[in-house]
Parts: sequence; C-alpha cells; structure tokens
Amino acid sequence: MSGWYTETLYPDVAQRLRMGTVLHRDRTGLQDLVIFENPLLGRVMALDGVIQTTEGDEHVYHEMLGHVPILAHGAARRVLIIGGGDGGLLRRVLEHPGVERATMVEIDRSVVDLSIEYLPAISAGAFDDPRAELVIADGCRFVKETPESFDVILVDSTDPHGPGAVLFTEEFYRDCKARLAPGGILCTQNGVPFLQPEELRSSHQRLGRLFADASFFVAPVPTYYGGFMAFGWATDDAALRRRTAGEIRGRFAAAGLKTRYYTPDIHVASFALPAFMLDILGGA
Ligand code: SAM
Repeated sequence: MSGWYTETLYPDVAQRLRMGTVLHRDRTGLQDLVIFENPLLGRVMALDGVIQTTEGDEHVYHEMLGHVPILAHGAARRVLIIGGGDGGLLRRVLEHPGVERATMVEIDRSVVDLSIEYLPAISAGAFDDPRAELVIADGCRFVKETPESFDVILVDSTDPHGPGAVLFTEEFYRDCKARLAPGGILCTQNGVPFLQPEELRSSHQRLGRLFADASFFVAPVPTYYGGFMAFGWATDDAALRRRTAGEIRGRFAAAGLKTRYYTPDIHVASFALPAFMLDILGGA
C-alpha cells in the first residue's frame, strides 16, 4: 500500500482515499496527473489534486451528464463534449444510436492516452467508435472558432482553476450558445452546491443572461466530496427541462440503454432542487 491520497480542492475540508498501487504519477505539461488503485473504488484518476473519476462511481456522473440532455432533446445528432479526457462521457453519448457524431475537445492529450492505458473500463472503446472525433485543443478557443453547430454541448471540465477556469466564463457560454442548433441544450459540470455555492450562483447568473431557461439538475457522485453534484442546464426551449417520465421512458427504451444509475424517473426527479439551491437561484 502507498498510503493515502488527500484531495486538496477545499481549504477547510478534505477527503482521502487509500492509495494502493500507483499506476502513473507525473506532470503532463498542463496538469499534475495521478492514477492509482483503491481497494473499494477500483482505479482512480486525479488532476491537480482533485479527484476526477473512479471506476467505482464514474457511471453516475457520466450517465447523468450524457443521458439527461440527449433524452430530453429527443433528436440529438451532433454532440460536442468539452473536456471529458477519461472517455466515460463519450462512451455514454455514443450509446445513443441517433447520435451521428460526437466531437470531444480535450486540452490534454496525456489524459486521454493515460486513461485509455490505465482506465480502459471507463471509456470501453469509445475512442475507437467511427462516430467519435477527438480534437486536442482548448475548448474555449474551439467553440469560438469552429463554424459547426451542435444539438447538445456537454462541458465535462475540471473545476474553475488551471486550464478549466475559462470553461466557466460568460464569454465561453456565449460562444457555446452560438454553436447550438435551434432547440439545443448546453450542460455543464458545475460543482457541489453545498461546498461551492458561489460557483452555482455565478454560473446561473451567466447562463441566465444568455439563455431563456437556465437551471440545474443534481446527482450523488460519492467521490465528488460534499454532497450531490450540480449539472448546469441551459436552453432557449423551457419545455425541454419539463419532459415527463412517460416521454423519457419511451426514448430510453427506444435507445436500448443499459444503465446502473440513470432511470427515466431519476431523470425527472433530478431537476427537483432543494430550497437552499432555489434560494441561490432566486427561486428559478
Ligand atoms: N468528471 C470530472 C469532474 O467532474 O471534475 C471531469 C473529468 S475530465 C478528466 C476533465 C477534463 O477537462 C480533463 O481531462 C482536463 O484536461 C479537461 N480540460 C480542462 N480545461 C480544459 C479546456 N480549457 N479545454 C478542454 N479540456 C479541458
């Protein structure tokens, strides 16, 4: 055993995971990256001191960030993923037979290469899917420069520091909106509201200035310490957030999805936010 890995995301609270075999530990040129074995969670990846994904609970986060917007949209053909280096989100997006192309823009090639090498169970071959297009670039620059449009844009970023900081700016959200086809949906990794309320408030203000309907949905990801995780939701079609379980059930069955956390009822329930979040959002 190699001791403990202590996460350094917050100044006043921290989680630690027992470190078994350390499979890789190095600076990629952009980020400090470590991949290690944990007896309970399987293989774990951390970037710049923050747990990014584990074999044990990655399915919760990737199923929710992938399936909720695509099933709510109902006819997503072109999907853009910003970040997502481990490939778990790409895998879930490509489980939808209606998706014709999934473009993944990841800034750090090493995260992809090392995830394929050491965390193959998470991407499960998604990078080899002929519909997958991997672009190594800054996602902020990509959405500013690409002429393409997308039905769904998913921001699977690190937290708002280091290379991920630009992915929480109003300028980035504005450029994402410009890349969305009519009826499109933007969803984001938006932190843990109990411990990152300011991230929730600022994202809601920025998204709310750009989109007719800006809110969040939530899910419990055990290794994202501090309670449930919030996913940003932004679209100009407010009806998309209010799909009924019956509508979603039909689409879920038609897609033939196999999930371990996501269900159509969880989809609908995930948009029901607790009072403290509604207070932060001004009752939205
Ligand atoms: N699920 C994790 C979470 O909730 O924190 C995120 C997983 S994924 C590993 C985050 C990815 O975002 C990393 O691979 C990182 O390299 C990438 N990333 C950070 N900043 C980026 C940027 N500006 N453009 C594209 N990718 C970026």
